Amino acid sequence: MKPAFYKISPVNIEGRGSNRLMVVLRTKGCEYAKKTGGGCTVCGFLNHADQSITSEDIIAQVDFVLQNCDLSIVEELDILTLGSFFNDSEVEPRTRLAIMERLAKIKHVRRVSVESRAEYVTVEKIKEIKQALGPDKILEFGIGLESANDYLRNTVIKKGLTKKSFENTVAKVKEAGANLLTYLLVKPPHVSEREAIDDAVQSAAYVFQAAKKYGVSARAAFEPVFVCENTYLETLYLNSKYRLLNLWSVVEVIKNAHQYGCIFVGLSDEDLSLERMPYSCSQCNKQIVSEIENFNRTQDITGITGLDCQCKAAYLEKMANGDI
Ligand code: SF4
Ligand SMILES: [Zn+2]
Repeated sequence: MKPAFYKISPVNIEGRGSNRLMVVLRTKGCEYAKKTGGGCTVCGFLNHADQSITSEDIIAQVDFVLQNCDLSIVEELDILTLGSFFNDSEVEPRTRLAIMERLAKIKHVRRVSVESRAEYVTVEKIKEIKQALGPDKILEFGIGLESANDYLRNTVIKKGLTKKSFENTVAKVKEAGANLLTYLLVKPPHVSEREAIDDAVQSAAYVFQAAKKYGVSARAAFEPVFVCENTYLETLYLNSKYRLLNLWSVVEVIKNAHQYGCIFVGLSDEDLSLERMPYSCSQCNKQIVSEIENFNRTQDITGITGLDCQCKAAYLEKMANGDI
């Protein structure tokens, strides 16, 4: 059985360039999304969920990617689900362990990431999978904070996560001996291009501040927003009330946020966007994407700062005039 999505892309692991295999396992889906009638306003994961998925199906998906991807070039495995890895009714404890035991056997994999909403996280659950992975691998716990701004996070994105709850989770991650990965959106609904850049940079500053406060090693992963079907965001987009993020804004975010710590920019749309993704122009789009991937690998912004194109002046002018 195939996962909902998988992809290999460049990443930096503790200062060294490498590749990660990102897998989104098809599961029963996000309980929060089901309970709240849609969940987060930009998330299209429910479109992929399947109520009939069993533990065996989940393990079969892991086996599929392990057998069908070129693991020789991969040193990081991101095992994501359509909701929360630590929600027992989505991924049973025995399934979590069975997955980790498989990954533990791949000697050259140095880092494993999993992700969950805060309400399912306990120190014991993190410790349990860390132990199954063994002492040679870094376990990274991922959480979607999306924005450090309470209004954007809980009123606009409808994340249902307080900063207090986020920080309690950071403390648990520390206690369990794992690292922290925090996902941040770039351009949620109802913000201008300028506000989106500022929010993403301020959110990264907050994440690294919180990590320092709790003494945990951290990365921030920016997720430039794309438009998924059957979401509130899609309704806005189709009514011309949401404008796609310009890729130059992602460049700005990287330039301003890399000073705070190790950052990663997610460029994958998990086949959910129908090509409604951040874009610049036909001349420079590919080059910007390639430099962002290069940055993900090296953490060096030289290539990013050297980017230029005729479309940039128009972008800057529109932003200055408040047109985007
Ligand atoms: S972003 Fe995460 S928490 Fe929000 S609806 Fe999607 S899967 Fe659930
Ligand atoms: Zn251009």
